[in-house]
Amino acid sequence: MADYDLAIIGGGLNGVSIARDAAGRGLRVILLEQGDLGAGASSASPRLVHGDLAGLERRHFLRVRAALAERDVWLRIAPHLVRPMRFAIPAHADERPAWQLRSWLLLYDRLAARGHLPGSTTVDVTHHRIGNPLRRPFGTAFEYSDCVVDDSRLVVLTAVDAAARGAAIRTGARCTRAERSETWRLVTVDRGHRQVVTARALVNATGAWTASVAETVLRQPSPQDDARFGTEQISQIVVRRLFDTDHVYVFQNIDRRLIFASPYERDFTLIGTVRHAFRGDPAIVAMGAGDVAYLCDAANRYFRERIELVDVVRTVSGANRTMNPASRRSARDGAIGFDYGRRKAPLLTVFGGDVTTSRLRAEAAVSKLTPFYPMSARWTARTPLPGGEFAWSRFENEVDEARARWRFLGEDQARRLVSAYGLNLKAILVDAKERGDLGPAFGPELTGAEVRYLMRNEWARFPDDVLWRRSKLGLTMPAAGRKALAAFMAAATPELSCDAR
Ligand SMILES: Cc1cc2nc3c(=O)[nH]c(=O)nc-3n(C[C@H](O)[C@H](O)[C@H](O)COP(=O)(O)OP(=O)(O)OC[C@H]3O[C@@H](n4cnc5c(N)ncnc54)[C@H](O)[C@@H]3O)c2cc1C
Repeated sequence: MADYDLAIIGGGLNGVSIARDAAGRGLRVILLEQGDLGAGASSASPRLVHGDLAGLERRHFLRVRAALAERDVWLRIAPHLVRPMRFAIPAHADERPAWQLRSWLLLYDRLAARGHLPGSTTVDVTHHRIGNPLRRPFGTAFEYSDCVVDDSRLVVLTAVDAAARGAAIRTGARCTRAERSETWRLVTVDRGHRQVVTARALVNATGAWTASVAETVLRQPSPQDDARFGTEQISQIVVRRLFDTDHVYVFQNIDRRLIFASPYERDFTLIGTVRHAFRGDPAIVAMGAGDVAYLCDAANRYFRERIELVDVVRTVSGANRTMNPASRRSARDGAIGFDYGRRKAPLLTVFGGDVTTSRLRAEAAVSKLTPFYPMSARWTARTPLPGGEFAWSRFENEVDEARARWRFLGEDQARRLVSAYGLNLKAILVDAKERGDLGPAFGPELTGAEVRYLMRNEWARFPDDVLWRRSKLGLTMPAAGRKALAAFMAAATPELSCDAR
């Protein structure tokens, strides 16, 4: 008998979502991630959970409606990670006409009819704070609702839930060989140790590595030359906060691309995106100076506060396998390939797509295996992610309750912690009475208690796992704090490893 029903290569959003779905349906699952969870494209998304307004321009009405319904699902199952926001589109005469934007937004409201977020409105920006940070004399802007999400924490908490349902999650475990017969035999190099596991079915969810893993690990005919697909890079920049409102600004750049500028981790603004074809090693995806300049120029056309290249505090880039634009499918759906046969154990290949539709993609992928296994019904739309067992409309109450219970928490710190951990915050702060009870401090916000929790429960092994994927505290962490954190984690590793649970 095989060790597992399903082995998954790749710990990005697609891989962990499939692990969660399958484990919850009763399959014995193992997930192999060569580095850290979410370290690939899944931590470089535009962080939107949305219907995709631009989809209306492409007449993808049914897709927009399905994504808007999915937006409601995310608010229900991840109320800590997913934040409703007001989006603002300043209207400009040289760009898409105001009547067109207005009619799209009315349709957007109609398609989201069952949702609970406020509908769109027209705003006179000369008398509204939306207009304060804007450079050009816009007369009108349109406001509508959508959501933003912490993409890398979504990956990690999905993996935590998969593990709680029995999935084995192995980070630092590179799959080097997968031999196919009636079952799969996988060779992995797990933190330097060679291991072999067997599984009845395999998922290749390796994003930008999909083709190379197919060719060199699975020894399958290479899908590299398949004209329907390509590999693309997406990039964004982070600058100091450019505006005081909580809005996400959507600009129609002169080349008609939509550019987003969103509040990011309280003191910063995330501006994106640029995307283009990618060649090279997906482990090293860097943003070119031309792309950084493009986004700075786009922001400078709209915001009063100018930004230059030197003001960019971080670039965020990732690569993934994507649908070619000529393909009739929507890029946001991603792709699911399925192959099986006599003496050929099932192989699923899943890549691309956006965050909003990732749960549906995982559900569809796992459902393809129903002829092979007895499994329970679809379930992920109804069950909250860890810590998300509260209504999204109560988020601010949860922040207030955290401050009342742990009086040493400042408002911003409480908000960050509730966003990251939801109701599981009590497992970190327990009965601490003052900050000193939480162990050593690393920078202004991070404590030993939080780091210990992340190492024990969320597979954090290195400082970057904590500073960039389980939080974004890397943005404000001073060099001394970073050094102390590295020493703390190195000393704590054997005791706190997730694998030692
Ligand atoms: C061009 C582009 C546009 C995008 N547009 C959007 C958008 O509009 N909206 C949106 O929400 N998101 C967007 N995204 C991001 C989107 O979030 C991701 O594509 C999505 O999260 C799915 O990622 P994934 O799981 O397929 O891949 P990844 O997150 O890259 O995960 C693949 C994982 O496989 C691992 N791996 C590779 N080889 C091996 C091996 N041999 N053994 C073990 N592990 C291995 C890698 O380390 C990596 O962690 C875009 C991304 C790109 C690149």
